[in-house]
Amino acid sequence: MAHRHRGRTPMQGGCSCGHVRYRVEGTPLIVHACHCTWCQRETGTVHALNALFEADHVVHTAAQPELVQTPSASGRGQIIARCPHCKVAVWSNYGQAGPAVRFLRVGTLDEPARCPPDIHIYTSTKLPWLVLPDGAKAVPEFYEVAEIWPAASRERVRAMRRRLKEQAAVPDTADPGS
Ligand SMILES: [Zn+2]
Repeated sequence: MAHRHRGRTPMQGGCSCGHVRYRVEGTPLIVHACHCTWCQRETGTVHALNALFEADHVVHTAAQPELVQTPSASGRGQIIARCPHCKVAVWSNYGQAGPAVRFLRVGTLDEPARCPPDIHIYTSTKLPWLVLPDGAKAVPEFYEVAEIWPAASRERVRAMRRRLKEQAAVPDTADPGS
């Protein structure tokens, strides 16, 4: 799990044109290789590779991405953060995890090898010629978070949700109407 992620320096990444750059603090909550047909279509390839982080651990260091509402398998939709110029996707929010968790697209990291998958999900639609490594953790659909995530990762998300709630409770002083 998280202990497999190497390196202490913050990871960095960004889009193809360099307009959107980010720094990401700490280690992933978990890394998903998602073989669902939605991820296959969105990435144009065999699976998505998403490293999940607390939202405020993904810090944009150049331009802000544009947030694009996109349909998702759950029907609740997802928000994909894309470079406003080159349109490369850097992270997503999904309905289930909500705004507290950003699903960072590992391929946009400068050093993507630092986030190998912890688990392969939706392997029921894995392309048949793709052979997973021996011993790779894999589930045909999704999983119970409580069974798979380290306790520390679950606590990190709870803390992030608390931070979002606190931020929402602070009135926006820039708004003269408030
Ligand atoms: Zn770009």
